[in-house]
Amino acid sequence: TFVRRPLIAGNWKMNMDHMQAIALVQKLAWTLDDAGHDYDRVQVSVFPPFTDLRGVQTLVAGDKLRIDYGAQDLSDQDSGAYTGDISGQFLNKLGCGQVLIGHSERREIHAETDELLNSKIRAALRHGLAPMLCVGEGLEIRESGQHIEHTLAQLAEALKGLSAEELSELIVAYEPVWAIGTGKVAGPEDAQEMSAAIRAKLAELYSQEFAESIRILYGGSVKAKNVASILQGPDVDGALVGGASLEAEEFANIVSFEK
Ligand code: PEP
Repeated sequence: TFVRRPLIAGNWKMNMDHMQAIALVQKLAWTLDDAGHDYDRVQVSVFPPFTDLRGVQTLVAGDKLRIDYGAQDLSDQDSGAYTGDISGQFLNKLGCGQVLIGHSERREIHAETDELLNSKIRAALRHGLAPMLCVGEGLEIRESGQHIEHTLAQLAEALKGLSAEELSELIVAYEPVWAIGTGKVAGPEDAQEMSAAIRAKLAELYSQEFAESIRILYGGSVKAKNVASILQGPDVDGALVGGASLEAEEFANIVSFEK
């Protein structure tokens, strides 16, 4: 059996300017240090806006902080006439270790397709960034009972043509769209059910060994008060946290969950 290091990740979305970002990362690091946080036991990463990354890099490198960080999106292209887009090359140079791909807000607001996400995963891999692929169903699909089928199709489409070797650093985040920013949390059974289904799909597409090595996170209104119950399931390896990652103490309390 594989030991997967749990990961608590904070998606800041379009919040925090570059000054606020430095203050938040600093406060988070202090709070975790005070709590005696063991980073080898639980990994911590944050996903600030692009404009914050240089400041976060300077702080993390200068103070030798063990918080990991990444971007919320990247271009599928490496350079050139793509006004407004950000290359994985740049993110790598800013010390990013991970990148969110296919967050439901990107899928909805920017109409990102599974095909584009496949291409973005390839771009992340070209530049040494661990892709955190976000998948999950909307309310209508959940109510129709098609949520597993829908989510597994998103997963398979995004990974099409990629090998287990290429995807060794893949992280999957299951985020039911109806639970994001709504205060509605999927139950621990729902989080476990989908995580197990995702793992079984990875085993079918690749191998059992690969499937057991990949971390699967749950996201959707995770708070300090519900994190322990959500992470009960043996296939739930951590959380992707939106709103509650903007407050250092609350986020540190989520990180300090006992599994
Ligand atoms: C998210 O957007 O990734 C998320 C999980 O948001 P929230 O925790 O605010 O529901």
